[in-house]
Amino acid sequence: TIASTADQLLAAEETLTDLDSQIGDADFGVNIRRGAEAVKDELESNDFDAPEEVLYTVGRILISEMAGSSGVLFGKSMMEASDAVEDGVDSSSVIAFAEKYRDNVAEQGSVALGAKTMFDAIQPTVLVLKRIQEIDDSVSCAEVSAQAVKACEYGAQSTIPLRAKKGRASYTEWRSVGHPDPGAVAVLI
Ligand code: ADP
Ligand code: MG
Repeated sequence: TIASTADQLLAAEETLTDLDSQIGDADFGVNIRRGAEAVKDELESNDFDAPEEVLYTVGRILISEMAGSSGVLFGKSMMEASDAVEDGVDSSSVIAFAEKYRDNVAEQGSVALGAKTMFDAIQPTVLVLKRIQEIDDSVSCAEVSAQAVKACEYGAQSTIPLRAKKGRASYTEWRSVGHPDPGAVAVLI
């Protein structure tokens, strides 16, 4: 659920701060905490009528509560993609959501693969989800998730040798080489 994802991100605050201090300006862990706490508060204090409403609200909260580049990227992409599930949550609408989310991150961040960002973790995950559905839509949900997580791990790891080309981390020149991108690691979590 969204609340348990928020809990896992909260538990990773220190790791994410450490990663952003190695390559950027050390604010990412705090940004994530602010976003995760505000999302949990909102989910606990409100009733929702539909899944797209939940996603839209989560996106809106991430934009308003997180500072830094990542809040708008995570939040606006979620708001924009939320209508993909307005006719219900099933394998094709989830994949449509993921693709829309990915496309929004690419557009708003004007980012492509290899810039050492969250996009490097998002893109392989979405491609694997889509590909499995195209090849065989009878694969179990657990198996699809497991494959998508593997792709995401691969994507997050692939940022290690790269030099950051976006966000604050791009100001640190070559310092980012040899460390994973914090945004990509947060996507994996
Ligand atoms: P900032 O770089 O402004 O300090 P945060 O610390 O909130 O932003 O978030 C850093 C993360 O945001 C990075 O690790 C990277 O994954 C992601 N990011 C930053 N800029 C971009 C961009 N233009 N496109 C995609 N992702 C980005
Ligand atoms: Mg930062």
